[in-house]
This record gives sequence, structure tokens and C-alpha cells, in this order.
Amino acid sequence: MLCGESPGKENATMTEETKKATDFGADVFGEEAIQTYLSKDTAKKLQATIREGKPLDPSIAGEVAHGIRHWAMDRGATHYTHWFLPMTGSTAEKHDSFLELKDGEPIMQFSGKNLIVGEPDASSFPSGGIRSTFEARGYTAWDPTSPAFIKRHSNGATLCIPTAFCAYTGESLDKKTPLLRSMQALDKSLKRLMKLFGRPEAHSACTLGAEQEYFLVDKEYWKKRPDLVLTGRTLFGAPSAKGQQLEDHYFGTIPDRVLSFMNDVEKDLWKLGIPAKTRHNEVAPAQFELAPQFEELNLASDHNMLVMDTLRGVAEKHGLKCLLHEKPYAGVNGSGKHNNWSVAYGGKNLLDPGTNPHENAVFLTVLCAVIEAVDKHADLLRASVAGAGNDHRLGANEAPPAVISIYLGDQLAEVVDRIESGVAGEAKKADTLKIGVDTLPPLPKDATDRNRTSPFAFTGNKFEFRAPGSSVCCSGPMTVLNTIVAESVDRIACELEKELGGESFVASIKPGEHTARFHDTLQKVLQSSLKAHKRVVFNGNGYEAEWPKEAEKRGLPNAPDTPSALAALAKPENAALFEKFGVMTKRELESRHEIFLEEYAKKVRIEGACARDIASEMIFPAVKAEYLESLEAFSKAGKAGIASGTLALRENVVELGAGLDALRNEIGKLEDALGRAACAEAAEGEILSSMKALRTTVDAMEKRVSDARWPLPKYRDMLFLY
Ligand code: ADP
Ligand code: MG
Repeated sequence: MLCGESPGKENATMTEETKKATDFGADVFGEEAIQTYLSKDTAKKLQATIREGKPLDPSIAGEVAHGIRHWAMDRGATHYTHWFLPMTGSTAEKHDSFLELKDGEPIMQFSGKNLIVGEPDASSFPSGGIRSTFEARGYTAWDPTSPAFIKRHSNGATLCIPTAFCAYTGESLDKKTPLLRSMQALDKSLKRLMKLFGRPEAHSACTLGAEQEYFLVDKEYWKKRPDLVLTGRTLFGAPSAKGQQLEDHYFGTIPDRVLSFMNDVEKDLWKLGIPAKTRHNEVAPAQFELAPQFEELNLASDHNMLVMDTLRGVAEKHGLKCLLHEKPYAGVNGSGKHNNWSVAYGGKNLLDPGTNPHENAVFLTVLCAVIEAVDKHADLLRASVAGAGNDHRLGANEAPPAVISIYLGDQLAEVVDRIESGVAGEAKKADTLKIGVDTLPPLPKDATDRNRTSPFAFTGNKFEFRAPGSSVCCSGPMTVLNTIVAESVDRIACELEKELGGESFVASIKPGEHTARFHDTLQKVLQSSLKAHKRVVFNGNGYEAEWPKEAEKRGLPNAPDTPSALAALAKPENAALFEKFGVMTKRELESRHEIFLEEYAKKVRIEGACARDIASEMIFPAVKAEYLESLEAFSKAGKAGIASGTLALRENVVELGAGLDALRNEIGKLEDALGRAACAEAAEGEILSSMKALRTTVDAMEKRVSDARWPLPKYRDMLFLY
């Protein structure tokens, strides 16, 4: 693990002080539980399995299952579940009790087989055609690299076993399997590359720190907003007079109500072995962030799913609702999930620039591989963050734009320029940098140098992928990132091998040896990679209107919405890439394309239907009542021969009447679009544009109808929790 920074593994040596303060990992079958509940021999075998990411040795499964059950029952669990990540994007669990009748006698039982595989059937999960309901069942298989944990509810607990979910053919039906495969692919490529650098063979470890943004809203308001209840975002709502203009919420004092919520969240997360670290107010009112310390990628990805679950669950106990939608409110910032990613080899972070020319050379090679990967496959990265919710965020003026580019910071960008212009083997020019000879200047690591407008930024010793939406499962974007970097690392290694003399050269490499010829060749290889791919580097302001135009000139793709972004999954060359690296078969990729498109279409249609219902059942009647009241007052004034006020009343009646007419028209248009979309005659774009027109009218009416009569809680109520 990374330089002693292994939060998930600290259990065994945790001090009493830490234990008392955090109860860290108390609900995880980790080191301490393994030592306590398993024999020494079995514990050792299980730990090796976990370390090496291998399948569990069936000969110890029985004892491990027995130990886990006792541990779980000591913590109040009566049930167990294989916990998995189906293609719905959330987590799935089907509980079974430990209880069994044996010869008529009730006993508690949990076998090795129950631990290793499950057959949850689960035929209703989306499979994109991979399995039809009449076909064989889906299977779950234990992933020992993510430890079992206890999930508590108010009067009991369940043992959760993280698993992969696949069809009987072995094809994956979940979000975990491709992630694990992509980590293997990257590991293989890195082993090939590191061998050329004379590094002893080691394991690679991808790391992820997922910063999670979210909103909180009072549950009483939430209940009164069918749009929030059904779609997770407000489909209507005029701006509050005060929104985020003053930016006084960002890093402001956390209100007590929220702080006590956060405390409860963190207590639960710590028990689950999740190293929740940072909490703060975000830019929008009622928006917050939680950041854990980074962990090994697969574990961090599972942990992020638990973070989202915990945020939602604890909010309920505080009379709040946690909104994880990317854009719950129009006009204020949306929420993202910044995926901080890096990869270590033999315990050393490869994206750490290092302190000497050799370490610098490794760093620059991996950096160039990432640049090459992102440029070649920007379309796939974009597709990995596509979704109905994130469409409201990407490209809007607060989130990274839909164009995928890389921010390196001025100093590193200059280094890259100097490699590109350097000439290997020749006398050094003033503005060139010779790999293996020159030492990199110290690169800034502090946050002040950050460019927050970039979707993919180098931040000192890791990349921060900022485009993923707040509700996304990290494994999708991380699977793509691992795969495309596996490809470019492999390509660079392959070219180096070829240039240097093929297998005989590889066989002659001595550990720790790096010749001038190697560094010269490396320089040439990186130089030509940078010449081809440097266009993806952009250090300017991504929010500027000029950038998309400039990006177009550079030939960078810009997919503005989900359907156009997902088209990348249908390209034969992308299917070939995933197949080549053993991450997904063509059929698995096709199934994902189908699932994501369908999910998008369903979400937009639900939103459309919800907007129609709210407008016709809640807004129209409120506007009508207001209209009637004004009309009545106006005619009464007329009858009484009173002139004062009639001008205002008349104007109000006319405006409200025009609003009623507009509502009628726009509800009709939305209804039409929904009807035609149901017969596949209209695209989701039409529903969205009809919703937009309807929203303009509804929001204008919100300003005309009396506050007491308006049927929906307003932005000014919901956004200020204190
Ligand atoms: P911010 O981006 O908000 O300024 P930080 O620099 O503290 O915050 O880092 C954000 C996240 O990056 C944290 O979750 C942190 O643990 C994670 N991180 C730090 N180093 C690495 C690494 N080598 N690999 C992956 N994530 C990392
Ligand atoms: Mg950050």
C-alpha cells in the first residue's frame, strides 16, 4: 500500500485512543476480526487471497463462513446478503436469514457455498439483452478484496458480502466486474513497462479518493414536492432573491443542524471502515461535501456507494432528505463527484514526480500515457459520465464543460513543452528537457494552483476527474480510465521494446539499471506521443465561451448530451479496445449502451410526466383560483363604482389569464411529446424542450400567485436550512 497510507488496513494496530474516538472498522470483517474469529492458518490464507486479489481457496470457505457468521451474530446480525452493484447504478441486496431447520430443530447456519456464490435470480435487473428472464439465473460471487460488513437498521443488522454479479455465461451484469478486470489490465501493462525501467516485479494498486457533493433539504418541504420525490430534482421553481451570488455559503460556518447530521454520518462511516476525512459547505446554499481519504480503487468505489446510502439514511433520522441528483435546483451549482485517481507500483505512487531524474522519467512516462489515453479516448470518458442528471451540469457554467481536456498547471505544461521540443541524443538546447538527465523543477502541490474549470486536472500527485456526476457509481468512469491508460502504457512499452531490440533487450535488463540509450529512446517515444496528443492539454478557463470553439479547432469531441455521448459505446474500435484488454466483450459493451440509453429515456419520460402532472393538477388550479379572486375583486369594484385598484386588478386578471392559456398550450405540447415518445416518434429532446417552455410559464406564475396559495415550497424556503 501507499507509503504507509492505508486507512482501511489500520485496524490491527489501531490504538485504544483511535478506537474510542472513532470505532473505526468495528462493523467490518477486517484484520482484527479475521485474527479473532479464524484459525491462524485460515487467517493467513484469507489474507493472502485479499492481498493478491485471488478467488477464495474453497478448502477454507467453510471455516471463513463459520467465522464471519459468528462475528456478524455477535454484532446482532440475523441475516446475510450478497451485496452487489447491478446496472441500475444503485446497490442491491436480497436477505436470507441464518436460520435453518435441521431435523425440525432451528439452527443458525452459513456455509462456505453461501459465502462464495449466491443465486439471487434477480431477473428484473437491466441486462441489455444478456439474459432474458426465461434463461438461467444470475450469480453473485464473493469479492474478497472488499471486506464483508454489517449494515444496521433500527432494530437489527444484516451481514453484507460484497459480490460481483454475472450471468450463467460469465458475462457481467454489474458495475464491479469490469472494474476489477480493468485493474488487472492496467496491472499487466504496468508490469510490462516497469520491467523496462528495471523495476522489480510488483503489484500495482489504483487508488481513488471520491469527493462527494450533495444537497440537504427539510423533509417536510421535500414531501410537498412531487418532482423531488419522483425525480430527485425540482422541475419548477423561480430563483430565490438570494441564491449563491454572495458565495457566502462556501466554506462558511456549518449550521448546527447540518453538523450534527454530518457527525452521525461520519460515525457510521468510520464503523464501516470508511475514512471520512473532510466536510464543508459547498458553493450553493444547502450544498455540502464529504471527502474520504483515498483507498484502493475497488474498495473506495464500494465505499462511495455506502457513503451515498449512509447520507440518505442518516438524513431521514434528522428530518432531512439528502439530494444526490446532479442538479436539484436550477440557477445554483449542481453536484459532482470528483474522482481523484492515481496508480502505485510496488507501493510507490507513479504520479508522484519524484526527486531524481530516474523517478522523474517514470513519472513523465505515466503522465504521457495518461495524456495519450485521454486524448485518444475522450469520447469514452465523456460517455462514462453521461446521464440524464449530469446533462444539466456538464457544459453549464459551474461544472467542467462537456469537452474533455486535461489541465496540467503552468509548470508541468512547460515541462511537457520542453520534452516535446527536446531532441534526444543531441546537445541540449536551452529550452529542452532531457529525460534521465535533467531533474524536474519542484511542482506545486497546493490547491491554490488548481484550475477548477477543468474536467480532468493534474493535482500534484494524482489526476482529479471532475466530470462524474454526484449520483454516479465510481466504477464506470474508473473502468474506462484504467482501460485506456492500460492501452497507452502497453503501447508505449511495446514501442520501447521494439526500438530497443525486442525480447533480447528485455531479457538483458538488470534491476535498477537504466542506460543512456534507454532514456534517449524513451525521450523519442514520449516526444512523438506528445506531438500527437498534446492538443488535449488546456490550461485556460474552461467556462469561457471561446473554449468550445477552440476545442473544435483542435478536433476535440464535444458531446452535449447523453444520447450523443453514449454513441461512443457503439463504435467498433471501442468494443475492440475493451475486448483486447479483457475488460468487456462486445456483447457486454453493447448491453451497457442499450441499458444506459434506456435508463436515460425512462428518466426523461418520468420527468416529463411528472412536470405535466404538477402543472395540470397543482399549478393550473392555483393560477385559476388567483385569477378568479382578482376577477371577482375587479368586478365587485366596478359594481361598487370604485375606480381605484381596478387598473392593477385588471392587469392581474389579464396576466393570470394569459398564464392559464399558456399553461394549457404548454401542457398540451408536453402531453403530445410524451405520447409520441411512447410510440418512439419523438426523441427525449422534445420532451425536455417542452418541459423548459412549461417551466418558464410556471416560474412566471409563481411570482404572480399569492404566496399562501402557491402549492409548492419555494426555492427560498428549501435552500436555506437555518
Ligand atoms: P481538494 O481537491 O478538495 O483540494 P485534496 O487535495 O485533499 O482535496 O484531495 C482530494 C482527495 O484526493 C482526497 O480524497 C484525497 O485522499 C485524495 N487523494 C490524495 N492523494 C491521492 C492519491 N494518490 N490517489 C488517489 N486519491 C488521492
Ligand atoms: Mg478536489
